[in-house]
Amino acid sequence: MSQKRLSNDCFALPPGVQWTPVDEALSRLRNTLLPLKKTEIIPLSEAAGRILAERPNAMRDSPPTANAAVDGYGFAASSVTQGSLRLPLAEGRAAAGAPYKGSLMPGHALRILTGASLPEGLDTVVLQEEITLEGGEIHIPEGWKSGANTRPAGEDVAAETPLLQAGRRIQPQDIALLAACGISEVSVHRPLTIALLSTGDELVQTGEKAASHQIYDANRPMLKALLKGWNFNVLDLGAAPDARPEVLAQLSKGAEADAIVTTGGASAGDEDHISAALRDAGSLSLWRIAIKPGRPLALGLWEGTPVFGLPGNPVAAFVTALVFLRPSLFQMAGQGWQIPAPTLLPAAFKKSKKQGRREYLRARRTGSGIEIFHSEGSGRISGLSWATGLVELPDEAAEITLGDPVRYTPFEAYGIF
Ligand code: AMP
Ligand code: MG
Repeated sequence: MSQKRLSNDCFALPPGVQWTPVDEALSRLRNTLLPLKKTEIIPLSEAAGRILAERPNAMRDSPPTANAAVDGYGFAASSVTQGSLRLPLAEGRAAAGAPYKGSLMPGHALRILTGASLPEGLDTVVLQEEITLEGGEIHIPEGWKSGANTRPAGEDVAAETPLLQAGRRIQPQDIALLAACGISEVSVHRPLTIALLSTGDELVQTGEKAASHQIYDANRPMLKALLKGWNFNVLDLGAAPDARPEVLAQLSKGAEADAIVTTGGASAGDEDHISAALRDAGSLSLWRIAIKPGRPLALGLWEGTPVFGLPGNPVAAFVTALVFLRPSLFQMAGQGWQIPAPTLLPAAFKKSKKQGRREYLRARRTGSGIEIFHSEGSGRISGLSWATGLVELPDEAAEITLGDPVRYTPFEAYGIF
């Protein structure tokens, strides 16, 4: 199923726009892409990592009854005097899952274990380490407090309380909360399926023999891993040569998915078949983004399915995937628009930067601050493995000297581990 609600010109920029600033590009994507309303109800035990579509309400109080917080002896505070006590011990006990039947006689004490429901006539528990047991009586020293060592019903969560927010990715501890509140099923968004296509006559696949003029397709396995790490399903369309019929055929296969991501062929050159195909379909918006690396982004719809045409250079493909693709897909997946907030850290590098484009540098956090990779070449894939995150330099001109605060985002904040 695709986003049929989108129109062919949904990504169009106002006429005359030369360079689109990153923030402008982001807000256009944010305002254009809609959450796909595909939800399903699944057992709670399978919900880890899924995105909540509806906010569940607690089915019962947690804990469901007032209960003992420790192993010890309990009694009713109102049935005894203050100070030290000597109380006859009632027969039987109250344990977790095995409640005491009946009510406790006033002035008596009862053996009670952690988690046991408080029986009628028992509202106070004294730790077993604090008492002495002698001839069927327990001796409680002074200093006990009424209501001590007990937990009221609903102390943690009251029945009917709304739990968690729609759009939240369910974490293991959320499962504990929902289970404790009696919830066995949750309504979650269906994971999106993203079709992935590389383009280029020069590409061969890993494991294949490569002639000297050929290069290994590095983008598709990288993007596949990124998308899987972000909990999307991947429809792998392989690599298409720089030939229109093949590109069209693969795009049409990809239209079954919720979005199509391509790399390469996204500029306006002779062999840029992604942009050409989208242009022929009447839906191309070629965004020239004021960003380095990753300038051209070909956006459009193919048979109603959004296409994100990323650049071919692996570093540019990686950066644009983190900066533009991730929040766009999260929004479509019902997780809401999410951009990690950078941390300000001192630069361990110097750089003079021109006005007019935002720059993302491969960066590494060290004891002395943030270092950057020695080359800014967007084909230098090794810098991505060297880096621990990205540094974002502002759109304006900047003169960065040692110790200046720079905006650093670790890869983990982009969901890369
Ligand atoms: P393009 O955007 O198609 O002009 O490609 C830009 C550069 O990225 C060229 O040097 C391509 O060879 C290279 N490139 C394109 N696709 C890939 C890929 N899947 N893996 C590695 N390099 C690629
Ligand atoms: Mg190419």
